[in-house]
Amino acid sequence: MEPAPLIDPFARAIRYLRVSVTDRCDFRCTYCMTEHMTFLPKAELLSLEELDRLCSAFVRLGVEKLRITGGEPLVRKGIMTFFEAMGRHLQTGALKELTLTTNGSQLRRFAGDLAAVGVRRVNVSLDTLDQAKFAEVTRWGRLGQVLDGIAAAKEAGLAVKINAVALKGVNEDELFTLADWCARDGHDLTFIEVMPMGEMEGADRLDQYWSLKDLRARLETRFTLRDLPDRTGGPARYVRLLETGQRIGFITPLTHNFCESCNRVRLTCTGELYMCLGQEDMADLRAPL
Ligand code: SAM
Ligand code: SF4
Repeated sequence: MEPAPLIDPFARAIRYLRVSVTDRCDFRCTYCMTEHMTFLPKAELLSLEELDRLCSAFVRLGVEKLRITGGEPLVRKGIMTFFEAMGRHLQTGALKELTLTTNGSQLRRFAGDLAAVGVRRVNVSLDTLDQAKFAEVTRWGRLGQVLDGIAAAKEAGLAVKINAVALKGVNEDELFTLADWCARDGHDLTFIEVMPMGEMEGADRLDQYWSLKDLRARLETRFTLRDLPDRTGGPARYVRLLETGQRIGFITPLTHNFCESCNRVRLTCTGELYMCLGQEDMADLRAPL
């Protein structure tokens, strides 16, 4: 008998699974982590085999798009084994898209292998093109290494989308530099509104809040923006800059204006399934595994 598809109580079909494969990272972005993080004991993470079994079950139940994330997914030891396993589902056609969100630091090493298993696009998080600011924001990151990773992704034939967190006093003055750089190098660009996170230290983080409404207004001082109907089932909204034809996305995670069309769920690296970004409700899938 065919397994029942994933339809939630609001009759929404779940087609998109975002999977965190590790909580660890080689950066310590100020808005995401403290400098001295305590990570989960490794034994608490799902093994690569468990991740394979679980994600394969989701694909059987109708998930067509898998986004791998972290922490930094490419620092998980042996992660290519997992990507290869998911590549099998691309070959059968059960999975339509396999993608990842990465800080880009390891792309020089992995871009070719990712392309070989069927990954076509990567999202790279990059908030600034200024070396000193990059070091300040990521604490441990080096801009040159990320730019080289992006170059490696392009060489491997991967499309690169840049995700930039909008940070007041940090990349405010780089709005047009970032947009021009992305237009020139053929990257889509999406801005993310910063979310206040539990791990952030001190009140100064609040000072970095830069609303996307304001960012958008500033873009309008130079470009004519046309709202696009493009919807991906998630929180992103898109506009086209009429002068350049460039598409720019905005993610305002806390606005809850996309619930009716939401098609996604999220799995943590310990096997907790979250049905909504904004709710604490979850199901533990490790026990049944
Ligand atoms: N390490 C990978 C990376 O940075 O792309 C994947 C995981 S990271 C948590 C996923 C995305 O969340 C990144 O684009 C990052 O900029 C964003 N992010 C992290 N903390 C955030 C916050 N407090 N507010 C908004 N976006 C945040
Ligand atoms: Fe968080 Fe990603 Fe930055 Fe790592 S690179 S600290 S996971 S936002």
